[in-house]
Amino acid sequence: MLNIVLFGPPGAGKGTQSEKLIDKYNLAHISTGDLFRKNLNEGTKMGKLAQKYMDEGNLVPDEVVIGMVDERIKEREETNGYLFDGFPRTIEQAKALDRLMDKNETPISTMISLDVPEEELITRLLERGKTSGRPDDQNLDKIKTRIQVYQEETLPVATYYKEQKKYNDVVGVGAIDKIFENICKEVDKHL
Ligand code: AMP
Repeated sequence: MLNIVLFGPPGAGKGTQSEKLIDKYNLAHISTGDLFRKNLNEGTKMGKLAQKYMDEGNLVPDEVVIGMVDERIKEREETNGYLFDGFPRTIEQAKALDRLMDKNETPISTMISLDVPEEELITRLLERGKTSGRPDDQNLDKIKTRIQVYQEETLPVATYYKEQKKYNDVVGVGAIDKIFENICKEVDKHL
């Protein structure tokens, strides 16, 4: 199995690159942000719970996120593995993911971190906000909160994967296809 964690700050291009990766390698896409937005649109209890955190640009509590991912993994799609996008975002989530994957005897193969400077992230998110309909992309203060939350709560996850020798840095600026090519170079080592 090929299990990839695609990591990076909001606006790094995780969603764009995920679409290409799941297509090329036949992976199940697990985007916790997308799953929360789906729950929100469907008006579920979990969606309502997540909304206030999402609206403020804060992280949804670990137990809620982990429970949701656990349920999603249990769906057991016929794919070559999983692509985790926007998850894990805390050390607690990273540990829980390892436990879930160990249980299924399919460890994380590699972690790819998209590197994009902060100013570029802000420009991209404001641009995306014009068409995405996402309230969290349309307000500069919320965007800054999300980047700060990333730096304070999510960045330690990079160290977690460095310690496991699974961390790989890819430049996330430039042509989408060039970035994809660089990601694939790392992914191909695990086929
Ligand atoms: P995203 O689409 O990945 O930018 O996520 C949008 C929002 O959903 C985030 O700002 C968080 O409020 C919430 N969210 C998504 N993934 C997670 C996660 N792994 N842990 C906690 N909150 C999350």
